[in-house]
Amino acid sequence: MNIVIMGPAGSGKGTVSSAIVEKFGVTHISTGDMFRYNIANNTPLGLKAKTYMDQGKLVPDEVTIEMLAERLSRNDLNHGYLLDGFPRTLDQAKAFEKLETQLNMPIDVVLSMVLPLDMLVSRITGRRVCPKCGASYHIVNAKPKIDGICDVCGTALIQREDDTQEKLMVRLSEHDRNTAPVIEYYESKGLVKEVDASKSILEVEAQVCEILDLFR
Ligand SMILES: [Zn+2]
Repeated sequence: MNIVIMGPAGSGKGTVSSAIVEKFGVTHISTGDMFRYNIANNTPLGLKAKTYMDQGKLVPDEVTIEMLAERLSRNDLNHGYLLDGFPRTLDQAKAFEKLETQLNMPIDVVLSMVLPLDMLVSRITGRRVCPKCGASYHIVNAKPKIDGICDVCGTALIQREDDTQEKLMVRLSEHDRNTAPVIEYYESKGLVKEVDASKSILEVEAQVCEILDLFR
């Protein structure tokens, strides 16, 4: 079973991905991890990607696709893949389609994590992190024992600059602008299944299992 998971940060994508891997045995391919692996191991593609990143440039899609081709060609994908963080644009989706065909690993289903904007905003803007030990909290959903203080080490909690409403809105509108055409493209192929990500983690996982059981 080959799966693509899409959704903005704060949609619970990471947690759901772990649950899918555990239950269905698919191989999690996160493009973020893939980049880190290639760069840390100085692979030819990692070095290529690094030259762009060092100049503050985006890594071209061809490099990412080459990395994916290499990753998907390894022999540890007996139960299929769960692709996370890619494709983010229509061009990437089209490039990936060529690769899927070449490798004979077509996408079976695209999970689209959907939740209302106000909920996404409160999830992200309510996050607080400990600058010392990295523990994370939420002002409503995961409060520290003492307001504003880390349970683990007693340090004053901070809000990450990226988690402010202003920064978040910029990030979300960019995310939507890029991914809306991708979703539309996959919808036209009948691949999209929406997941109501506003529910609790357990409910979201149950929904996802119900969807994926159809493709086993
Ligand atoms: Zn701490």
